[in-house]
Amino acid sequence: MKFINFSFILLISTISNFTFGQSKKQPNIIVFLVDDMGWQDSSEPFWTEVTPLNRKYHTPHMERLAKEGTKFTNAYANPVCTPSRVSMLSGMTAAHHGVTNWTSPAFNNNTDAPDDQFRAANWNYNGMSPIPNIAHTFHATPFPKILKDAGYFTIHAGKAHWGSAGTPGANPYNMGFIVNISGHAAGHPQSYLAQENYGNLPGKASWQAVPDLEEYYGRDTFLTEALTLEAIKALEQPIRDGKPFYLNMAHYAVHVPLQADRRFYQRYIDAGLEESEAMYASLLEGMDKSLGDLMDFLKEKQVDKNTVIIFMSDNGGLSLSPPRGARPHTQNLPLKAGKGSVYEGGIREPMLVKWPGVAKPGSVVNQYVMIEDFFPTILDMAGVSSTEIVQNIDGKSFVPYLKNPKLIDSTRVLVWHSPNKWTTNDGPGINYKSAVRKGDWKLIYHMRNAGLELYNLKNDIQEAHNLAGQYPAKVKELAYLLGEKLRNWNAPMPIIKENGQPVAMPDSL
Ligand code: CA
Repeated sequence: MKFINFSFILLISTISNFTFGQSKKQPNIIVFLVDDMGWQDSSEPFWTEVTPLNRKYHTPHMERLAKEGTKFTNAYANPVCTPSRVSMLSGMTAAHHGVTNWTSPAFNNNTDAPDDQFRAANWNYNGMSPIPNIAHTFHATPFPKILKDAGYFTIHAGKAHWGSAGTPGANPYNMGFIVNISGHAAGHPQSYLAQENYGNLPGKASWQAVPDLEEYYGRDTFLTEALTLEAIKALEQPIRDGKPFYLNMAHYAVHVPLQADRRFYQRYIDAGLEESEAMYASLLEGMDKSLGDLMDFLKEKQVDKNTVIIFMSDNGGLSLSPPRGARPHTQNLPLKAGKGSVYEGGIREPMLVKWPGVAKPGSVVNQYVMIEDFFPTILDMAGVSSTEIVQNIDGKSFVPYLKNPKLIDSTRVLVWHSPNKWTTNDGPGINYKSAVRKGDWKLIYHMRNAGLELYNLKNDIQEAHNLAGQYPAKVKELAYLLGEKLRNWNAPMPIIKENGQPVAMPDSL
């Protein structure tokens, strides 16, 4: 076991003065995690300008949360679901925990698509496990367990997707949750519709049939609404008992299957959106209503002033058409590509944090942060300054940025690692890629052709101008950094079929 002192980590990792977030009372904490939501999928703009996508979608409660809290403009996750969810619960980056692709609900099922050039990397395709020695899993201590041990009433609602069925990590109870509503091994719902029992129809149920919501069967309660009602029901108990709570409100929305949330669908058809995009927009607005309902509930119960809300998405918006409408890979403009890609469209996320009395309402943080930062941040907020965990975490608390939004640390290094074949066809930044960001610079490593691309995100958020030829010293610096990190973490790499060797590290090209 390791004895981790988060205060020490914070002291050596930040560049300016701040005081620790030891509030007198343990704050309640809600992580509101959306599935597959893109950076531009909101009427709240996260860029320096308002885009046509910001005008297309309606998310008034995200706007409200931004007004009451802090907006992060450079927040990141991994290109697909499970790596991000495991990073959040473990505090580790994907290259380090080795769960680099989505996990199948079925045990021991490597989800990598077959490939002519590469054999699959030895990644942890059964996901994360809270106990050791489970085949093809990564063993880590999940932070909800630490919160539970610290006196928190812990609730999971919605999509879990941390591990394959039959492994301990598939079950939210094993990850430190006292209550579990509809979380299991699957990564998407079979159906959002209560009329279809969320997939639980006799003879038709698959791995993805949503568990636990029997009382809504046959009614017209959309899945997003049912999860919200159940989460609110579960919150009554800790509020009544005066216990601090942690709610992992992890919506299945807005992941496929695209289905119309009828409460909001027609307005988008009336606005001229094609059917699939109107369904997508309705999923988004239903998710946004859930956020508003939770905020209203907290206020009504008079716990809003002692409740932190962290809004996040687990990867970029899906840009494969179909099932999305519009031209492929244009759904996250100005960002390039979408889900599955190491370009910004696949990894940059809408992120908002409200911490009443600590973070200034309406503030904006431009520092880049990543989903593994949630682990140390949430423990920092909860006042857990030291604890025993089995893993070495990579994340850093973003509490200093909530207290002083102007702080910038351009020496920090972020890594994305996707040594996998996510889809059968390579797309922009999709399949067999790594990337590293330091300051405004980002280097992308294409394993298939041993190519390197360099971008300056400050001037070129679109990643339209590859500067690798112009700045060879910067390429070398970042390739070395990336190679060093991947080696230190023993990151999984694909195997070249021709010679049986792992793909070369970016600094040995
Ligand atoms: Ca996802």
